[in-house]
Amino acid sequence: MKKSDLALGMGQDITRRDFIHDVSLASLGLALPAGAMGDTPAETSASFGANYPPVRTGMRGSHPGAFEVAHALAREGKSFPVPRDLDEAYDLVVVGGGISGLAAAYYYRERFGPDSRILILENHDDFGGHARRNEFHQGGEMRLSWGGTMNLEYPLFSDSVNELFAELGVDIDSLLEGYHFRYGSGPRGKHAMFFDAETYGRDVLVPDFSFRAGRETELDDAIDRFPISKASRESLKKFYARRENVFAGKSDSEVKELLRRISYTDFLKKYGGLTDEAADLFIRVTHGYAGVGADSLSAAECIGASVPIMHLLGSEHLSGSGATDAGGDVAMFPDGNSSVARLLVRALIPDVAPGADASNIALARFDYAKLDEVGAPVRLRLESTVINVANRDGGASITYVNDGRVLRVNAKHAVLACYHAIIPHLCPELPEAQKQAQKYQVKRPLLVTNVLLRNSKAINTLALSGAYCPGRLHGAVWVVKGVNTVGYRHDWDDTGPVPVMFWGSIAPPDSSVSVQEQHRASRALLLAMTFEDFEREVRTVLDGMLGPAGFDAKDDILAITVNRWPHGYAYGYLDLWDPEWPEGSAPHEIARRPFGNIAIANADAGAEAYTHVAIDEALRAIRELKRGN
Ligand SMILES: Cc1cc2nc3c(=O)[nH]c(=O)nc-3n(C[C@H](O)[C@H](O)[C@H](O)COP(=O)(O)OP(=O)(O)OC[C@H]3O[C@@H](n4cnc5c(N)ncnc54)[C@H](O)[C@@H]3O)c2cc1C
Repeated sequence: MKKSDLALGMGQDITRRDFIHDVSLASLGLALPAGAMGDTPAETSASFGANYPPVRTGMRGSHPGAFEVAHALAREGKSFPVPRDLDEAYDLVVVGGGISGLAAAYYYRERFGPDSRILILENHDDFGGHARRNEFHQGGEMRLSWGGTMNLEYPLFSDSVNELFAELGVDIDSLLEGYHFRYGSGPRGKHAMFFDAETYGRDVLVPDFSFRAGRETELDDAIDRFPISKASRESLKKFYARRENVFAGKSDSEVKELLRRISYTDFLKKYGGLTDEAADLFIRVTHGYAGVGADSLSAAECIGASVPIMHLLGSEHLSGSGATDAGGDVAMFPDGNSSVARLLVRALIPDVAPGADASNIALARFDYAKLDEVGAPVRLRLESTVINVANRDGGASITYVNDGRVLRVNAKHAVLACYHAIIPHLCPELPEAQKQAQKYQVKRPLLVTNVLLRNSKAINTLALSGAYCPGRLHGAVWVVKGVNTVGYRHDWDDTGPVPVMFWGSIAPPDSSVSVQEQHRASRALLLAMTFEDFEREVRTVLDGMLGPAGFDAKDDILAITVNRWPHGYAYGYLDLWDPEWPEGSAPHEIARRPFGNIAIANADAGAEAYTHVAIDEALRAIRELKRGN
C-alpha cells in the first residue's frame, strides 16, 4: 500500500536542504575559551541570494542551529564559559525578535525617547518569531506563503494595537478588499475530505465535503464514500441531518457547565450518536484553532472553533459561525504577520528597506546586513541565544551566545519577550513562585509545511481549495491564493506555480498525562523528525490526493519548506485541564511580574496566542520599566 520513496520522488533535488540535524555544541564553538573566535559582533546572514532568510527552504521554523544553545542550557543544565564584555552600551536589550520583542523596542522609543539605544537579540536566522515569511522563486514569479502566523484578528484589537497599526500605516479595510483566501472553502474550488491509504486502506478524496459544514445536497452519497465502517457512516449521516436541543429543559448555566466538562469528541459520541471511529475523524480539526486535538478541548471551547455542535443545541446551523470554514473575521497580509514584523523592523531600522511602507511591504527586499550596524541606534542581532539576564546596579546585564562566542552587554533595562518557560533558566534568581508559573506555560507544538507545486492543474481539475485529512500528520491542507494586497497578487484563476500549505501538530504518545506533559512529548517527537520525514509525508498526501488528476509527485513539486514550531501557541487555559484561579494569581499573571530592571512580555504574558496580545503585552512591559536608571 505504501509507495516507494522513488515513486514519490524523494530523490529529487528540489531544495537546498539543511542536513545539520544535530549541531553539536563543539561545532558551535562552545568548547573554545571565551573570545577565541574573534570579537566582531554578530555576522548576520548574507543579504541576498539563496542565503536570504525568507527564501531558505528545507527545515525552517525552529531550524538547526537555532535551538541547540537553549537546549544545552535548559535541558542539560550546561554551564558556559565566562562571557566577554562587549564595548556596547544600551538603554534597552530585548530578548526575542518576535512581534512582542519588536513592539517592545518600538514602544520603548516612544516612552524613553527616539534616541534610545536598543539591541534586540534573537536566536533564529530571521526576525518575526512565529510571524515567518516563506518566499518562493522556484517557479519564476515570487510566491508567498505563511510559515506561521497568518491572521490579524482585527475585531479583537485593543485601542493601543489599533493606534500602533495606524502609525505603521496598516489599513485593515484595504487588506480586507484584497482578501479572497478562505481556508479551503473557496472562492474557487471547495473543501474536500481526504482519506489516505496508509490509514484507511485506500486513498479516497471526497470533494465538496466539509467536516464543518457537511454538504448541502447529496450528503448521504458523500458519506457513503468514506472508507470507514457502515455503522460509522450511518452515525455520521444522522449526525449531520439532526436538528434538536439535546439539553432541552436545562438552564443556561447547567448547559454551560455540561459543555465545559465534556470533551468535544465525547460530546459527539454521547449526544451526537457517533461511533468511536466516526468521532475520531474530528480529532485534528482543532489543531489550527487551539494547537490541541478536539479530544483535549471541551465542547464549549469547540463552539468557537466552528465545528458542528450548534445543531444539537437548538440551532438550525451546524456551527456557531453558520457552518463555514472561512476562518471568521480576519485580515491578512500575503506573508501573514511577517509583514507586521517587517513594518516594525523598518520603523526601528529604516535603512533595512528604504522606501518600503505598508503599501508595498510584501514586495520589499530587506537588507539583512543593515540589521546590526555599528553606530545605529537600534540593532537587531540574529543567531544570538540569550543564556543569562541579571539585574545589576542601575541596569541589567545580558549574556548571549553568538557563533560560539559567549558575550555580555549591559543596558539600563531588559525586556524578556521570549517564551516564558525558558525564563527560569535565563534568570535563576527570580522568585521561586514566578519561575514555577513560567514553567507552567508550556507552548503548544505546531507544524506548518509549505509545498510549492509546479502548477494548479490537478487542483483545478478536482475543484479543490483545501482538504481535511483526518489520518495524516497535517490535518489541514489549503491552496494558498487570493491574498492580493500590499503590492502582491496571486489570483485564483492563475494556473501557474502555487503554494499548498499543510497545517498540523504531533499527536502526543500518551494522552492520559497532563496537557503540559503531552506538549513536551509531542515537542520531542517533532524535534526528532528529519526533513525527509516531513517530505515523505507531504509527497504521500499529494500523491494520493492529486495523483488521480494527473499530479506527479516526482516532477510537480518545486520546493518544500517545513516550519516546525516546537514552542508554538502560547499556553491558554483549557476547561478540561486547568483550574480556575482567583484574579491576579493565574500563572501568566505571576509569570510576567517585573523584576528590578527586567520586564516580561511575549504572548505568553497574556496567555493567548495572538499577535495583538503579543503587542499589548509589550506595551505593558515597557510601561512597567522604571525611569531614572
Ligand atoms: C504556526 C502558528 C500560527 C499562528 N497563527 C496566528 C495567527 O494567525 N494570528 C495570531 O494572531 N497569532 C497567531 N499565532 C500566535 C503567535 O504566537 C503570535 O501571534 C505572536 O506572533 C507571538 O509573538 P511573540 O513575540 O510573543 O512570540 P514569538 O513569535 O515566539 O517570538 C519570541 C521570539 O523569541 C525568541 N527567543 C526565545 N528564547 C530566546 C533566547 N533565549 N534568546 C533569544 N531569542 C529567544 C524565539 O525564538 C522567538 O523568535 C500563531 C503561532 C504559530 C506558532
